[in-house]
Amino acid sequence: MTIIKAIKPIKRVLIANRGEIAVRIIRACRELDILPIAVYSEADAGALHVRMASASVAIGGAPPKESYLNSDRIIEAALKTKCDALHPGYGFLSENADFAQAVQAAGLTFIGPAAAAIRAMGVKTEALALMRAAGVPTVPGYAGGNAESDYVQAAQHIGYPVLIKAAAGGGGKGMRVVRAESDLRDSLAAAQREAVNAFGDAAVFLEKYIEGARHIEFQVFGDQHGALVHLFERDCSIQRRHQKIIEESPSPLLDPDLRARMGQAAIAAARAVDYVNAGTVEFIVDATHNFYFLEMNTRLQVEHPVTEWVTGLDLVKLQFRVAMGEALPFTQADVTQRDHAIECRIYAEDPANDFMPSIGTLDTVIAPSGPGIRVDSGIESGDAVTIYYDPMIAKLSVYGTDREDARARMRQALAAYQLRGVTTNRDFLRAVIDHPAFARGEATTSFIAQYMADWQAPAESQSNDQAPLMRETPATLNAVADPWARADGFRIGGGVTYAIGTRQGGSTRRDARQTENALMAAMPGQVMGVLVAEGEAVTRGQTLILLEAMKMEIRISAPHDGHIAKVHCAVGQIVTRGQTLIELRAE
Ligand code: ADP
Repeated sequence: MTIIKAIKPIKRVLIANRGEIAVRIIRACRELDILPIAVYSEADAGALHVRMASASVAIGGAPPKESYLNSDRIIEAALKTKCDALHPGYGFLSENADFAQAVQAAGLTFIGPAAAAIRAMGVKTEALALMRAAGVPTVPGYAGGNAESDYVQAAQHIGYPVLIKAAAGGGGKGMRVVRAESDLRDSLAAAQREAVNAFGDAAVFLEKYIEGARHIEFQVFGDQHGALVHLFERDCSIQRRHQKIIEESPSPLLDPDLRARMGQAAIAAARAVDYVNAGTVEFIVDATHNFYFLEMNTRLQVEHPVTEWVTGLDLVKLQFRVAMGEALPFTQADVTQRDHAIECRIYAEDPANDFMPSIGTLDTVIAPSGPGIRVDSGIESGDAVTIYYDPMIAKLSVYGTDREDARARMRQALAAYQLRGVTTNRDFLRAVIDHPAFARGEATTSFIAQYMADWQAPAESQSNDQAPLMRETPATLNAVADPWARADGFRIGGGVTYAIGTRQGGSTRRDARQTENALMAAMPGQVMGVLVAEGEAVTRGQTLILLEAMKMEIRISAPHDGHIAKVHCAVGQIVTRGQTLIELRAE
């Protein structure tokens, strides 16, 4: 183990994030004797990360654009508090190359890769081209001309089903599975509109949609001296809306040969962009074990605890060391993958209701503890889950001598986790962990659609966990649960589509005999897109409004054919539950 003398010591770091990841970084700072400085929005003034930090700076309003995405305010806060470095966490500005560059230009060390590497992996189509040149396998696909006919031809060539993806995409947003040519034109137009609204860039591309695939990713780490290693894989196949909820290592699918080949491909991918610091190379693996590069996340990953369990490394501390200029204190041959780890993401959401986020105050939070159990959380009893941020409350991870041991520990840890006041996915996670297909290690990205579509919360849990919560959530969810209020449901190919609360004479019900319909917001959120204009003719199922609540995209679609009588909202507006967004008149 060679540790080169630190080139640029870090004494004080600004953490440009919130919630559990800010708390996680603060813990690493304490161990490294680095002073952690927090930033916070108006909604987070009393948050755990603010209470734990050595000092904190208010950076603006609750909406992320005014605070955690406000790069000028964040850099100003770092300079004002005399920080010498900035840790971006994940999400928010962590993969914004311009931000990384601005941080460095301000004389601060960015705890992450070089801006050039972030940029090279930032646009999916460009990253894919780079990967092909580096000999890393990619999914058969098409990125090119903008004419509809080009896509029709390309999809024929690729073969259905195909997946439309936004070039600037992330977080599983704006993806649409297309199963037949008759749906391609409409899906393409809708995906382009959504891409503009979510990412400010209409560019989309096609990929072969691989059914029954596994999502397997490799953690990589590079130092400033040219060393680059992988820290084995995480299997993240349990997903809803193309977003992970359970991750584990090792993957039950990989044998040593496939692991070695994928590890090499991950290193080649990272090498192609001279990668430094922590990163993740994501692959999709088909039924016959062919693997394809999906994307590289140029930051610390939510599910990094799984890797920490099986390698015994502290990835956040390693991030700081590498950023200071130290060499990686091990080689590839030194790193081992021991035993088994599983992580469950605890979300404030209702799995029985298309995973609709829930908000409110967590009256009681009692986390499990014991050997082999770890909880990463930014929330304590009495804290609120608001509309502004991701609904992830905590990450529960466990370690076991083998997969069965880890599964048994996870089962009991989930059962012991008490979360009252807000609907959570805890019981859903328990059902997944117990499911025979998961137990056999056979789960693919289709698992939830395949086995869990009809899942209902156990009655006993509803009375236990949800009884005290009668404030925001039940009303919010009832509006959506009402079958009369709902035109469409969760689609594998995209966000959640709702026609919410068609209202007549004050009562909420759906009746195709109606001549006027007021479509309302089922939960508070921000209007991200108004896709139609007054007077415009629309068809049943057409997306009219895009709402974003807690990082989730909610599509409000027409429950029937008609034309738009009145638009009551504008892009950027924060709307409350029950607020009328648009009026639709049937012909
Ligand atoms: P994002 O950046 O929005 O998270 P990714 O490309 O990482 O998008 O994909 C997210 C998830 O979508 C994957 O984990 C996988 O489940 C699914 N997915 C992506 N591409 C494909 C594909 N070509 N075939 C099947 N599933 C895919």
